[in-house]
Formats: sequence, structure tokens, C-alpha cells
Amino acid sequence: MKIKDIIAAIEIFAAPELQEEYDNAGLITGDKASDCTGVLCALDATLEIVTEAIERKCNLIVVHHPIIFKGLKKINGNTYVERLLIEAIKKDIAIYAAHTNLDNVVLGVNGKIAEKLGLQNVKILAPKQKILRRLITYAPNEKAEDVRKALFNAGAGHIGKYAECSFNSKGTGTFKAQKGADPFIGEIGKQHQEQETKIEIVYPFYLETQVMNALIDNHPYEEVAYDIFTIENAHNGIGAGIIGDLNEEADENAFLKSLKQLFNTAVVRHTALLNKRVKKVAVCGGAGAFLISSALQQGAHFYITADIKYHEFFDAEGKMVIADVGHYESEQFTVDLLVEILLKKFPTFAVLKTGLTTNPVRYF
Ligand SMILES: [Zn+2]
Repeated sequence: MKIKDIIAAIEIFAAPELQEEYDNAGLITGDKASDCTGVLCALDATLEIVTEAIERKCNLIVVHHPIIFKGLKKINGNTYVERLLIEAIKKDIAIYAAHTNLDNVVLGVNGKIAEKLGLQNVKILAPKQKILRRLITYAPNEKAEDVRKALFNAGAGHIGKYAECSFNSKGTGTFKAQKGADPFIGEIGKQHQEQETKIEIVYPFYLETQVMNALIDNHPYEEVAYDIFTIENAHNGIGAGIIGDLNEEADENAFLKSLKQLFNTAVVRHTALLNKRVKKVAVCGGAGAFLISSALQQGAHFYITADIKYHEFFDAEGKMVIADVGHYESEQFTVDLLVEILLKKFPTFAVLKTGLTTNPVRYF
């Protein structure tokens, strides 16, 4: 097993291209071509986590939060970030972070919280636009099935819970091969008319290389005609936050109490209760103030998140209960998620969950 095999399994689940612009997810230290002795999963990379990894014979740490977030000008051990990097590099420990890319997939950080809360009918709270592209291409009728299959195998044609989606129409293509060409059909210097199928198919932008390779490799023509468009449709499986319904309506106080228990926190900071039964719940692990308006728009009764500032609590407008359960607390299940993603792919490999809590916040 190589470190790059572990990374590939995570990136199939949460493509690195889905991280936000400000983010720095990916391989932070280490050589992806090295053999992997074991993986330690945690929320944060800290010196204690590096020590734990060494003790448990793991040379790869997979975390949610990238330890390097902005540019470093010196690495001399002045800050905890620098000390950690020096230690990790000296001891040959690779650190990989799956951050906002793991937030932005439906079964990611927030999907895991929704699962813990038992939410039903879950969907992305703020689906992302400009993720999808549409490919239009033309293949001779008898080769259309081969081309379609290759595109499907490359990951194109997924819409919601449906795979192999495409639209196909028939028509006549014309071309005249010029000197030096090696046409699949037709003759040099003579216009050829071919009965062709126009294939239209969508794919997320980050699969473009493999989709295009599949097209070029499986299309019989020397010159493949195609168009690519970015489409405005939101992608319902990709975006920030999750919203869903509680299996059974709950009393507000009882629900808050259950949140304290589930997130194992001493304190939940929240806005005034609304004196109605809780049904629709929105969640966003970590700093989620940016989704308050989306949660309101979608009619959430409770919005469970973290890092809410004083003035942001007012944005609930008396129409929703914002419940701040703490940053670490809200994202703690991400460690289980990382372990599950890897064990699903490598059931017998040493994929370990940290035994440490990396929350820097204490409550008095
Ligand atoms: Zn976070």
C-alpha cells in the first residue's frame, strides 16, 4: 500500500477540486509515492497526534483541518505549526487534509452529523452552481453505444440517484477528409455523409480529464467533434450544509438536551426558543454563520453549527433557533467518517482512529 492509494480513496469520495478557494486541503507533508505503514485519523494535526502516529506505527495522518492554511516564511519552530511540521518531516510522517472538499459532499462532514441526528429526507442546504458541465458529441450510429458506455464508465451521466443519464438524437453528419487524414469512414477529398447520434451528457468539472480521455479513446473518428458547456444548474449533491427532518417531532428543550448529549458538550449557545415542535433541522459542522440565511430560507427550525459571533445570533430573526455546539464538537464525527471511508476501501489495512481529543477549547 502506498500513501497515494490512501489519498486516492479519499479523493474519490471528496474530490480535492471541491475545496473552497481559500482552503489548503491535500497532502501537506510527505511523499505520496512512499509505502504506507498505517493511517491515523484525527480532526487536527497536533504534536500529540504526530507522537501518537509514531507510537502506533502510522506514517500517514489523515485530518480534517489543514495545519498549513496560509503562507509560511520561516520554519524555525517559533510557532506550534512550525514545530509540528519540523517534527512530522523529521520523523517522515505524511499529513493529508480533507477539509472543505469533505464539507461539500452530501455524505461528508454534514451528512455524518445528519446521520447522528437521525435526520430524514436530507439534502444539501446550499447546493453549488457551476459544478456541472455538459458534453455534446456525435458518433456514427453503430458506435454510439460504445461511446456512451465509455463516458458512463468515466463518471459522466450521474443526476441525483440516477446513473447512465444521456440524451440521444439522430441526424446527418458531413465531413470531407483532407490530404494526410486517415478517415475511419469516407474517402480523401470527397464529402461523406454519415448517420450519427448526437449524445448529450453531464459530468462534474473535476472529472473532465477522465471523461475527455474516455471520449477520445473510444470514439472511432480521427477528429472527434464535441462541445463543452458550463451549465448554471445547481448540483444537488455538492454544496454547503445539510437540511433534513427529524424522524419524530421533538420538544425544543428536549432537543437541546439531546444535542448536549450527542455532541458531548457542556454548553450549547443558542437563540430564543420558538415554542413549537422541532421538525426541520439544518446543520453545518464548523464555522457556519455563512449559512444562516440559507437555513432561514429553507425553513429550518433549528440550525446546528459553531463559531457564531454575537451579532450573527441576531440574524436568526426570531424565526429559527441557532444552536452553537462548538467547533470541535460539531465536527468530531468527521474522524469516524474518515475511518469509514478508508476501511470500506481497505478493510484489512491499519486504519486507526485517534485516542486523543484535539479540542483547544475548555469550558469552566
Ligand atoms: Zn472545522
